[in-house]
Amino acid sequence: MKFLLSFESSPGYSDTKQIVLHKENLFPKLQTIESKYKTEHFPPKDIRKLSKMLLAQHTPSYPNLREKYSITTLDFFKGVTCPACFALPMLRERSRWTCPQCNHFSTDAHLFTLHDFAILIKCNPTISEIQDFLQLPSRYITYRLLAKSPYPRIDSKRYQIVSQEKLY
Ligand SMILES: [Zn+2]
Repeated sequence: MKFLLSFESSPGYSDTKQIVLHKENLFPKLQTIESKYKTEHFPPKDIRKLSKMLLAQHTPSYPNLREKYSITTLDFFKGVTCPACFALPMLRERSRWTCPQCNHFSTDAHLFTLHDFAILIKCNPTISEIQDFLQLPSRYITYRLLAKSPYPRIDSKRYQIVSQEKLY
């Protein structure tokens, strides 16, 4: 699953850049660590064993980030994030999303934004909340997008984007 939420540090919190690692910097960071620590402390057989054990016991974590960092819904930028350049909002034109920054277009960029919304704000939003967060021009377009989405409708107004058990 891809996460496309954009993060920006508030003014005065420059330490964030030393703690948060953006995904595009992950591979170079791993290469730096690999070149820094060359001595092997475990034989390859033990590493494979440990790797299998870690993979077998992996469970995804969905901590309540809003509570943990005292974030309110007002702290989130609304709109669909561009999967190519992470700018927002993308514009809904001719049944697709277009990025005014890089001209990338997508037919499903809203699914990633909806997933982020569910993880960070509400796992079973109403149609109005979805329309508002995705900045869609009409309820009809919102209905149409949701009808084509993999998310089930749980009653007349709400959709289940992520199940509650997966969140906390
Ligand atoms: Zn873009």
